Amino acid sequence: MIGKIIKQVSNDYTVKSDKLYVCKARGKFRNLGITPLVGDNVEFDPNDKYILNILDRKNELERPSISNIDQAVIVTSVKIPDFSSNLLDKLLCIIEFNNIRPIICFTKLDLLNKEELENIRKIEDYYRSIGYPVYENTDSNLKDIFKDKITVFAGQSGAGKSSLLNRLDSNLNLEIGEVSIALGRGRHTTRHTELIELLGGMIADTPGFSAIDFNGMTKSDIRDNFIEFNEYRDKCLYKDCMHIKETDCAIKDLVGKEILESRYENYLKFIGEK
Ligand code: ZN
Repeated sequence: MIGKIIKQVSNDYTVKSDKLYVCKARGKFRNLGITPLVGDNVEFDPNDKYILNILDRKNELERPSISNIDQAVIVTSVKIPDFSSNLLDKLLCIIEFNNIRPIICFTKLDLLNKEELENIRKIEDYYRSIGYPVYENTDSNLKDIFKDKITVFAGQSGAGKSSLLNRLDSNLNLEIGEVSIALGRGRHTTRHTELIELLGGMIADTPGFSAIDFNGMTKSDIRDNFIEFNEYRDKCLYKDCMHIKETDCAIKDLVGKEILESRYENYLKFIGEK
């Protein structure tokens, strides 16, 4: 039978198919150095309760250790803590690189004055214009994005992930604390991983997506995951232009015009040029 692993507690894997089966992993996975992950689509034996094969993954994360993630909601506070374009751009870049669709959700806009709000709305428009879905936590259509998808949440400590989830489904009784993505070392509150149902899809019940550095990414990877750069890079003189000091660089020419200045500044910081 084919099913999806929705929960792992040490060596017990709960596989969802026509019903739930708690399975063990075959020794061959250990020999091959493969660990079944929550999110995996697997072939399993419903009688012996063994996982036989893991179907190809489209992606996987280390923390939370989940595979086949469709999208990540980046919960982004605009006040207390203040809006951090640096953290937003970093998460966008890493999430893109992991072949996961980023969705931006701004929170705490009610704490802004008129001028600050206008400024944030311009920033929202920019991210929308380069192709990202952008929501505010009070948008009612935010409820529509979860159907048939596996979603993880990302965002800094205190960004309002818990209250956002409670707003989406007041029956959720999650231990998703506000502890997840503190810069530097995150606290890890859960040792098991589980997918739970939310609005027709599934979300990870872990504290959050905590890949907060560019592990495994080269400078070129960082460049290539600033998605709006890709639109103009053909116009750079050099084919492999890093958009730093090269002559006739289309990207540099567009900073402050088509390209948001903070995006370019963050890019330079991420590749160690600033
Ligand atoms: Zn360039």
